[in-house]
Amino acid sequence: MIVIKLKPSAGIKRISGIISLIEKSGYTPHLSKSGNSTQIGVIGDESDIMKILSLDKLKKNAEITKTSKPFKLASREYQRADSIIKIGKTSIGGRNIVLMAGPCAVENYELTLAIARLVKKSGADILRGGAFKPRTSPYSFQGLKEEGLKILARVREQTGLPVITEVISPSDVALVGRYADILQIGARNMQNYALLEEIGRTRKPVLLKRGMMSTLEELLMSAEYILSQGNPNVMLCERGIRTFEKYTRNTLDISAVPLLKQVSHLPVIVDPSHGTGVKSLIPAVSKAALAAGADGLLIEVHTNPEKALSDGFQSLNPKEFGQLTRELTAIARAVDRKI
Ligand code: PEP
Ligand code: MN
Repeated sequence: MIVIKLKPSAGIKRISGIISLIEKSGYTPHLSKSGNSTQIGVIGDESDIMKILSLDKLKKNAEITKTSKPFKLASREYQRADSIIKIGKTSIGGRNIVLMAGPCAVENYELTLAIARLVKKSGADILRGGAFKPRTSPYSFQGLKEEGLKILARVREQTGLPVITEVISPSDVALVGRYADILQIGARNMQNYALLEEIGRTRKPVLLKRGMMSTLEELLMSAEYILSQGNPNVMLCERGIRTFEKYTRNTLDISAVPLLKQVSHLPVIVDPSHGTGVKSLIPAVSKAALAAGADGLLIEVHTNPEKALSDGFQSLNPKEFGQLTRELTAIARAVDRKI
């Protein structure tokens, strides 16, 4: 990718002139802003693009560079400033830290509403809950599907909390998108390219979870699938990877957080629930995630974890979640963030 960095002095006329030059040559310009300056990224045959750009007297208030990474639109080289994604009143990225909390699966209306009210009281910004559940066993509870989506929408109406929920198939993207504020792509689907492209064609905010056997570069390349279709609203999620360790469900890679923040402008969210699979480890790992620079947390909370239809063993009860959010405030302050 060739990146054209335009100085603040470049006016609208100049920017649109470059854009139409690129479009006329059959390429797609990708636009982003970092403070006052504008970047235009062009992906394709680099020497051909350079030839086309040489037709324009770019030298004056522009700087032309190439990205060295295999991921392009996700890279800091393309966009220096952090991406900030707006969900209602909540900003994800930037100084703000976002808390997403709720049950693993939507089980029924009353329970979801009760959990939503309690997590909201403790400071959660967004309600999580799965309606389509990608379970390892076909005999486990698979979620309430559309009925679950309707419950989430009713609970949002009652509480004002935006909702995040998983979509597992390209053919369900439109349906889930009608109910959800954020689409979640689960670990098992990180490399479901048809799903990534379908979500890429929408402009819905999306949380992309790291596959349980995926490298960070593979995660970033999956993000690139969504970005390259035109959807810029991508968040990355570290949720642990599979290792030989058996005391935890997954091994949460804390170094993924500063690394992703260094190479990418996309917000980074940590899921300590699936990342550890052990309820007693969630507070410490959540604090470590914020200290390492995470932009938010995704935490499973249930009013009766022992009776939960899925992942009860790794769910906090609302009281434990409340205690944790109080402790997290101090960590956020220490790293100059707001919770
Ligand atoms: C979930 O968030 O409930 C979930 C299924 O997570 P993951 O895709 O990370 O396993
Ligand atoms: Mn779960």
